[in-house]
Amino acid sequence: MIEINLSILNQCYARRMNWYPSVNNPEGASVRVGGIEEILDQFDLIMLDSYGVLCRGATPIEGAIDAIAMMRRHNKALCVVSNDTMTNKAVAAEKYAARGFDFSGDEVVTSLDITENWLKTIDNPGRWGVIAPDVHPSDELLQGMVRLNSQNGVIPEEVDSLLFLVGGMGWTAEMQANLIASAKDRQFTMALGNPDMGAPYFIDGKIHLGATPGYFADCLVKETGQQATPELFGKPGETIFRTVMERHGITDPSRVLMVGDTLYTDILGGNAVGCKTLLLECGVYRGTDIEQAIADAGIVPDFIAPHL
Ligand SMILES: [Mg+2]
Repeated sequence: MIEINLSILNQCYARRMNWYPSVNNPEGASVRVGGIEEILDQFDLIMLDSYGVLCRGATPIEGAIDAIAMMRRHNKALCVVSNDTMTNKAVAAEKYAARGFDFSGDEVVTSLDITENWLKTIDNPGRWGVIAPDVHPSDELLQGMVRLNSQNGVIPEEVDSLLFLVGGMGWTAEMQANLIASAKDRQFTMALGNPDMGAPYFIDGKIHLGATPGYFADCLVKETGQQATPELFGKPGETIFRTVMERHGITDPSRVLMVGDTLYTDILGGNAVGCKTLLLECGVYRGTDIEQAIADAGIVPDFIAPHL
C-alpha cells in the first residue's frame, strides 16, 4: 500500500483536470440541507457513491441504512455508482448485504462492470499490461493480458497499453518504481478501471488514504511524459453515469441526484452529465473545511449536507 494524504490527493486531481469532463457548475452557490429527505421530491433516481456515503471501510455510516429505507418508502429508484474494481454485478448484492444494505445486483453499477463491458471488446489482450491482484473477479476476461503485479511492476517489451485496475495491498512502492523505470522513453495507451487517486482505509479506527490506480497513472505521466489521455471507466468519466441513466430510461438528467463525498469524481462527473449533485461532509472531507475544498477545486455541488 502506498500511503498519501488529502493534500496530495487534491493536488493529483487538480493536475489531471484534462483527463476529466469539463466543469459544468450549477448557477449560484450550493444550498445547505439537513439531509436528502428535504430535497427528495425533486428527483426520480438517486445515484449513490459507496465509500464515504454508505460505508466507511466495511462499516455502514450512521443513518445510511435508515436513509435508504426512507427513500424506498418514497418509491425512489436507487443505484449505487462506485469506482470499485473488486466488485462486479455477480457479487455486488452479497457484498452490500454483509454491510446491512438491501441493494439488489441491479441496483449497483461499479467501474468494474464498465471495465468488463470494455474487456469483452478488445482483440489483442497480449499488448495490455494490467495492474490487478493475482486473484480477481474478472480473471477470465483478463486472460491474455500481462499481469504487472507478477512482473514486480516491470513492463515487458511487447506491452504498449496499460490498464490500471486495482491498487491496495497488491501494488507496492517498489512495483510502482519499476513501472516508471521500465516506461522511460516509451509511450502507452492508458485505461483507468478506477480513476480515483486515493481511497480511505482504516487502522484501529484511524483514517488513512491509500493510493489507487488514478494515482499510479498520474505518477507515470508526471515521471515519463506520457502524451495519451487515459480512457476512464469509472467516475468522473461519463460512461458509468450514462449507463445507469439509460438503464433507468432517464430522459431528463436534472431529475437525477448524484450523492457523493468527493468533488473531483462524484460531483464533477454528476454535474458534467446534467444531474444535480449532493456533497456529503461525512466522507473524505470529514473534519476539514468543505467550503474551502469547493473553492480550491472550483467544482460546485447543488447541495451540501452533513450526511444522507
Ligand atoms: Mg466516496
